[in-house]
Amino acid sequence: MVLSFSGLCLFLGASVALAGPVLSGEPAGFDATPVRDDPRRNHVPTDTFMKLLPLHRVKTAPGPYDWLALHPEEGQDFNDYVSSGPVLPDDLHRVIYIILIGDFDEERKRIIEETAEFIEAYFTLPVKFLPPVGVDVVPAAARRTHPQTQDRQILTTYIIESVLKPLKPEDAFCLIGFAAEDLWPGEGWNFVFGQASLPDRVGIWSIYRNGNPHEGVEARKLCLLRTIKTGIHEIGHMFSMHHCVFFECNMNGSNHRRESDARPVWLCPVCLRKLIWGLSKDPVARFEALLDVCARLGLEEERAFFHDSLKVLTAPE
Ligand SMILES: [Zn+2]
Ligand SMILES: [Zn+2]
Repeated sequence: MVLSFSGLCLFLGASVALAGPVLSGEPAGFDATPVRDDPRRNHVPTDTFMKLLPLHRVKTAPGPYDWLALHPEEGQDFNDYVSSGPVLPDDLHRVIYIILIGDFDEERKRIIEETAEFIEAYFTLPVKFLPPVGVDVVPAAARRTHPQTQDRQILTTYIIESVLKPLKPEDAFCLIGFAAEDLWPGEGWNFVFGQASLPDRVGIWSIYRNGNPHEGVEARKLCLLRTIKTGIHEIGHMFSMHHCVFFECNMNGSNHRRESDARPVWLCPVCLRKLIWGLSKDPVARFEALLDVCARLGLEEERAFFHDSLKVLTAPE
């Protein structure tokens, strides 16, 4: 079981602190050495990912309360990833399932649907919804009203063990639950943004603290981006990807809301290489799909980034 707080997840490691721009050469985490010859995988040349480097920023040194200051991690380069024998989708387990738990208003439902569209383009895997379930699937013993804040909360461990695991379909790569209510993981905790069981590839996240999408265009966009960023980060962990310490990247750990809000939706070239290798997909087609989905969802900054990435990858030599 991996606990997630403030959108964070726990991994072991030693200290690292990188700073300053690196736009050429071979930065940390970008080992160009070819790895094992796996005929099932489409080996995209390392040069493809190196081309993207000028678009990315090296991870800045953490502030005192940031994730890397409190949870020093070594990072996982591409070779570490491949040799770890990562969990990957296969022909029999390739659907990302989403289930809504609790009462979502129409706007929040739409935000989850848009998040699902983004996830589908990002992981190039089919995304399907299971029929939603009401909060009454959670018995009184696994619910509470927080004694100080009065937030209504449901117990993550109950959801994982008694709701998500039994409902996970045979062809699932993973099952992600989105809860409308706040979550808490057990004795001693005030709240948690989400929690996952990586071995079971199920996880639950709440949109309760993602802001009120009814407060205007910017508030809605923030709520959507927070929901997307958490979803793709956690599904990245389901692919056995560890936190990224090399670049500003969606796979960066985060320790508080400001840090998770600052995290981009995109992957750095190191993490992108892992994903593309794991999926055995064409990175150009993936960027095209992301460009389309960002245009549909009004995510201009993200659309521009994917546009630039595509331009770099498809530029004549
Ligand atoms: Zn994480
Ligand atoms: Zn990364």
